[in-house]
Amino acid sequence: MALAAELNPRFLADVYQAASECNKCSLCQATCPAYVTNPVEWETARGRVSLIRDAIEGRLELRDIADGPLSTCLTCDNCVAACAPRVPTGHIVSRARQELHEQEGHPWKQSFALRNILPHPGALRFVHGLARFTQVTGLYALARRGGLLQLFGGLGRLADYAGPLERRTAYQRARSLPAVTPPVRGRVGFLVCCYENLAAPQSTEAAMRVLLANGYDVTVPVIGCSGLPARTLGDRDAMVDMAVRNSDALRGLDVDAYVGDVASCVGHFHEYGAIAGDDRLVGDAARDVALRTALTSDFLDRNGIRAELGPLRWNVVVDEPCSLPVDGPRRGAMRRLLSQVPRLRVLDLHEAAMCCGGAGTYFARMPERSEAILERKFDNIRASGAEVVVTENISCLVQLRAGAARHAPGVRVMHVMELLDESMTVAQRRRAVIPE
Ligand code: SF4
Ligand code: SF4
Repeated sequence: MALAAELNPRFLADVYQAASECNKCSLCQATCPAYVTNPVEWETARGRVSLIRDAIEGRLELRDIADGPLSTCLTCDNCVAACAPRVPTGHIVSRARQELHEQEGHPWKQSFALRNILPHPGALRFVHGLARFTQVTGLYALARRGGLLQLFGGLGRLADYAGPLERRTAYQRARSLPAVTPPVRGRVGFLVCCYENLAAPQSTEAAMRVLLANGYDVTVPVIGCSGLPARTLGDRDAMVDMAVRNSDALRGLDVDAYVGDVASCVGHFHEYGAIAGDDRLVGDAARDVALRTALTSDFLDRNGIRAELGPLRWNVVVDEPCSLPVDGPRRGAMRRLLSQVPRLRVLDLHEAAMCCGGAGTYFARMPERSEAILERKFDNIRASGAEVVVTENISCLVQLRAGAARHAPGVRVMHVMELLDESMTVAQRRRAVIPE
């Protein structure tokens, strides 16, 4: 039976071999944020992969493991760091969710958001305007008190988590940026994350300012969501549609590189070649985006910071987004940049690479579980003695800010580009006061 299935898996043939490589050593247990907050076997990478393999081989159905093994995984790949055969559990779980939704259909609210809002910049602008209108007029608070937000399920919790929205989105802020600091080193296309555009536009603006101060001219193409939420929620068609739309929007843009400041989005742009590289119309553009997109910290780390950095007498810890490839050079880029800021003390954070529980829409889908993971993260942050936590991913940023408000009100949470921007501002002020 096993041999027949091996030759002819019922579905998920593309991940079947990888799922078969788990040797059941259990080294992944201690690294899994879901397992450490709920220590049962099916929470481990070993347990999830084994159940998915059972489904592929016909011993159970994917719907039997939808609640639990498939839903509680953060697809963070923290387990891969401990896994000798490098079983890509997050990817296997994402593919199993896609297969499940293809078999059973998609929840309509999720489909509506993934197909009618996220791919369309105009719809995203409308949602921002509407959400801000309800916040400013008090309608939002009213709906919250009356329990109306619950009707919107995960979307309602997402809005709640994002907190008060800024008046200007990142796209609007991009229209009033300073000029590039000469000599110009190149021209980059900035890939704005649709979520950060609404929930933390000041972070995107800081990233653009840092690039400009370092000699990179910034152009900001208008795109929709990268498609990452569709991938993690299992909607393959929506994911492909967003990759095709964005590749089309970026076709022919005259830039030396693309840069984004959200680790998970950038990681997903790197997959565009695999997702839409065969498309007759936009295949070339999709492969180009995959090859030439870099994360801000990695881009500056490789090319070097040229702008002057001023002193910041802060104790900082770095919370590495899980979406950065395990053991890859990009993992250390934030620390290397921060080590160049005068007077800044970069402290060690226990379990720095463990997911904070944000994980895309996880905090909205699994609020209790997410909170348990977040509490553990803040136990470690408080123990470190840091007054600032730095990260480079929007869901981490939103999650950690919400966590700081509840568990460590004195701790400030910043995007790494906000910290560099602040350091550059200090240097400018010092130059103004103490002329060279
Ligand atoms: S991807 Fe993350 S949540 Fe899922 S099994 Fe691995 S460590 Fe656990
Ligand atoms: S560490 Fe890797 S090989 Fe070992 S049990 Fe976990 S998933 Fe399987």
